[in-house]
Amino acid sequence: MKNDIADVVIIGAGVTGASIARRLSVYKLDIAIVEKEEDVSFGVSKANSGIMHAGFHHSPGTLKSELEIYGNAMFDELHRELHFPFKRCGIVVAAMSIEEMKTINHLYAQGTKNGVIGLELCSRNRIRSLEPELNPDVAGGLYAPTGGIIEPYRFVFSLIESAKKNGVKIINKFEASGQEYKNGIYTLISKENKKLKARYVINAAGLYADRISKMFSAQDFKITPRKGEYYLLDRNSSYKPTRVIFPVPTRISKGILIVPTVEGTTLLGPTAESIKNKEDVATSHDNLEKIFHSTRRLIPEISERDIITSFAGIRPATEKGDFVIDSCDKVPAFINAGGIQSPGLTASPAIAERVKDILKRIGCELIERADYDPYIDELPKLRDTEHETLDLLVKKNPQYANIICRCETVSEAEIVEAIKQGHTTLDGIKFYTRAQMGRCQGGFCSYKIIKIIQRETGMPFNRITKRGGGSYILKKTISMDSKPVL
Ligand SMILES: Cc1cc2nc3c(=O)[nH]c(=O)nc-3n(C[C@H](O)[C@H](O)[C@H](O)COP(=O)(O)OP(=O)(O)OC[C@H]3O[C@@H](n4cnc5c(N)ncnc54)[C@H](O)[C@@H]3O)c2cc1C
Repeated sequence: MKNDIADVVIIGAGVTGASIARRLSVYKLDIAIVEKEEDVSFGVSKANSGIMHAGFHHSPGTLKSELEIYGNAMFDELHRELHFPFKRCGIVVAAMSIEEMKTINHLYAQGTKNGVIGLELCSRNRIRSLEPELNPDVAGGLYAPTGGIIEPYRFVFSLIESAKKNGVKIINKFEASGQEYKNGIYTLISKENKKLKARYVINAAGLYADRISKMFSAQDFKITPRKGEYYLLDRNSSYKPTRVIFPVPTRISKGILIVPTVEGTTLLGPTAESIKNKEDVATSHDNLEKIFHSTRRLIPEISERDIITSFAGIRPATEKGDFVIDSCDKVPAFINAGGIQSPGLTASPAIAERVKDILKRIGCELIERADYDPYIDELPKLRDTEHETLDLLVKKNPQYANIICRCETVSEAEIVEAIKQGHTTLDGIKFYTRAQMGRCQGGFCSYKIIKIIQRETGMPFNRITKRGGGSYILKKTISMDSKPVL
C-alpha cells in the first residue's frame, strides 16, 4: 500500500463485498476489505436459502431483476474458476389451485419479459414428471431450468481466496465506526480506534449498510430486518427433492420452500417476519409448525423426524424493496451497495460489475494487471474421492486417512487446510469444510477440531470460540496450564 493509503476500502466481507473485491482485483489498485466479525461471511451471507434464482420473481425495471438475470448467467464461469459447490438443478413453482395458476401465469410473463431462458409453463402431469413426489392435487406450475443451488459461505470463501491471491488485504475485527475526509483521502476509524486511509470507500455492510451510509452522509435509507427461519433435514431423509420447489409467492416473500442443498441435505424455509433486533436469530416452535404445514402442502411425505437442526437468517429489507447501489452527488468517492436482500447472492457478481462501472464513472482509474489470475486451486474432499484415487491421496498426505467428522466424511487434512486459509473458529471451519454440519451437529467432532486448532495455531484452549467475539467454548477463563474441560 503506497504511503499506507488504500485506493479502495470495502466495508463488509459478505458476498457483496467479496464479489466487489475480487472483481476490482483485476486492476492495479491497492484494495482492503474491513470486516467487523472474526471471519468473512459471518453476516447475512452465511444463512440463506442458497438458491441461484432464475429471474422470474422480480418486476422488470428493478435493479433486482436486472442484476439477478445477469448474475445468474455469470455463475458457470465463476464455478470453473473458483470450484465452490454449485449445481443448476432447476426450479419449479407449484400451484395448488386454479386460482394459484393465475400467479404462475403472471410469473411466466414477468420472467419472459426479464429474459429468463427456457422458462416453461407446466401442466399438472409435466410438473409431476419433474418432481414426482409433489402433492397429487397440484394444479400445474412453472419450471426454470437455469435456477440452481450453491453453498453460499463456500462461495464467499472462494471469492475471498481469489481476491487475496490477487493482492486484496482482508482486515477482520475492524468495525468501521467513524470517518474523516481531508484532501481527497478518507480516514476510516474502527470501534477500537484503528485507522485506515483510502481514496475510495464502498459500503457493503449488509444489515448495517444504512448506518454506514448515514455515517458518510450519503443516501438516506432504512434497513428493517426481516427474519427467515429454516429447518435442515438429514441427507438420509425419507424424501429428497431433485429441484428447488417454490409455492406461489406472497406479497412479502417468495414463500416457504423445499431446497435440495448441493451437499445432499434438504432445507425447509424461510419464514418472513419483520423484527427489531438485527442480531435476533432465534428459531421458534410456532414457526417449525408453520414450515412443516406449508411444505407438506407441496410434498406430503416430508417428516419432522428428519430434522437435524434449525437456524435463521435476517434479510436487510429496505422501504423501496430494491437494491441501493450508487454513488452520491454530495459525497465524493463513496459508493453504496446496500439493501442487498434476496436475490443478492445470485446477483452478487453483477452487483460487483455495476460497482466497478460506478467507480470508473466517479474517477477511479482502472488499469488491468498483467498478472491477474482468476483461478484458485481445487482441493480434494475426502467424501468426493473415488476409491481408486484414495490411496494416492493418503500417500501424498496421510492426514486424509484420519476422519474427523464422520457424518460429513471430513478428514484432518481438510480441517488443517481451513485453518491455513484463516478460518480459526468452529463456525469458520464448519462453513469451509462441512465438519459439524451433519446428523450429530458436531457432537462427536467439535472436540477433535478444537484440538487441531490448538495444535495448528498455538491458540490456548480457552481462547477458541464458536464464532468470534465472546462465544468462547469455555465460559470461564482458565489458567493456560489447566486441562481442557468441555
Ligand atoms: C432468509 C434469507 C434467504 C435468502 N435466500 C437467498 C437465495 O436463496 N438466493 C439469493 O440469491 N439470495 C438470498 N438471500 C439474500 C442474500 O443472502 C443476501 O442478499 C446477501 O447474502 C447479502 O450479502 P451482503 O454481503 O450484502 O451482506 P452480508 O453478508 O451481511 O455482509 C455484510 C458484512 O458487513 C459486515 N459489517 C457490517 N457493519 C460493518 C462495519 N461497521 N464495519 C465492518 N464490517 C461491517 C458484516 O459483519 C457482514 O459480514 C437470502 C437472504 C436471507 C436473509
